[in-house]
Amino acid sequence: MDFTDEEHDQLEKRHRALEEIAARLGVRAERGKRFAELTSLRVGGAIDWVISPETEAQAAAIVYELDQAGIGWRALGSGSNVLADDSDHHYVVLSLSNMKGEVRIDGELVSVSAGYSLPRLCIDVARAGLSGIEGLGGIPGTVGGALWMNAGAYDHEIGTVTETVRVAREGKVVDIPGASVEWNYRHTSFREGELLLGATLRLTSDDPEVIKSRMDEAKSRRLATQPHGARSAGCFFKNPPASTTGTGKMIDELGMKGQRRGSAIVSPVHANFIVTEGENARAEDALALAEEIRERVRKEQGIELEYEVELWRANPDPQSEGKE
Ligand SMILES: Cc1cc2nc3c(=O)[nH]c(=O)nc-3n(C[C@H](O)[C@H](O)[C@H](O)COP(=O)(O)OP(=O)(O)OC[C@H]3O[C@@H](n4cnc5c(N)ncnc54)[C@H](O)[C@@H]3O)c2cc1C
Repeated sequence: MDFTDEEHDQLEKRHRALEEIAARLGVRAERGKRFAELTSLRVGGAIDWVISPETEAQAAAIVYELDQAGIGWRALGSGSNVLADDSDHHYVVLSLSNMKGEVRIDGELVSVSAGYSLPRLCIDVARAGLSGIEGLGGIPGTVGGALWMNAGAYDHEIGTVTETVRVAREGKVVDIPGASVEWNYRHTSFREGELLLGATLRLTSDDPEVIKSRMDEAKSRRLATQPHGARSAGCFFKNPPASTTGTGKMIDELGMKGQRRGSAIVSPVHANFIVTEGENARAEDALALAEEIRERVRKEQGIELEYEVELWRANPDPQSEGKE
């Protein structure tokens, strides 16, 4: 992208402000990263800055400073539900996968930081004899990403067991009741610009062996029906609420399994998974293939498919965009 002198000066000013904030708060700030390195689809363009806080307090302080300085930012967990486009993204990515903290178990209450791995947490609590999230054991990503999306699988959703969520407000860590959040199908009422720092879950005591067998069963069902080891973002589209047929089956019935657009392919294993291939895979290909699927489903089934994956367009002010 070509910049005017004025835009260039503004970017330079932002770079300096950011360096100063990161140095003052002692948070790692890096340039030269690409979404292709940070997302499971392995596509997407360059990012101005990636900032990686390690504690909840640091993360709360940093977003406060960024907001005060008028610097746009977006939170990223493991990037397993994000498709970022190929352009240069002129905002800060707050990478939370280093903000792991420690899991604290107090009876049936489990407190965990947003950067902690969800699959790891499922194993930890199963070992501690706590049930309620074993169906989520095969979902890649962080606890923060799972809370944001209300991740769910095999009859479990994270929102159902969330007692409180810790969020960043005015530079501080603040607890809000889980009951004040709307937990919908792969969507919540959290707003763009809200940073989730951690959560306390209320689980139920059960036999660790029984929990583990339920978790193993969910994992083997997943292995039997979904591509593994492939570069994907899980299900690309939501299941339409009014249809009894799942989206994967619908796409499969259109004969689209294996369909390719450049570096993107409809998975031959599960038609609602788009996978990418090759060193220089392009978001553009995945998007074109996704739109081709939507067009066919619209024409032949009369159904408007809604994205489950989040589309991140390069935009200088991401806070001004709604959730897509
Ligand atoms: C193979 C595969 C299988 C999958 N199966 C499932 C499944 O069965 N069920 C399911 O629900 N999902 C599934 N997913 C999708 C994905 O794993 C989940 O949505 C997961 O919870 C995303 O976590 P993440 O840390 O990767 O989030 P990211 O992809 O990094 O982010 C997702 C969204 O959450 C926001 N976010 C992340 N962390 C924070 C934070 N701390 N504060 C504020 N916002 C934040 C991001 O801004 C973004 O909008 C699958 C993905 C893959 C690759």
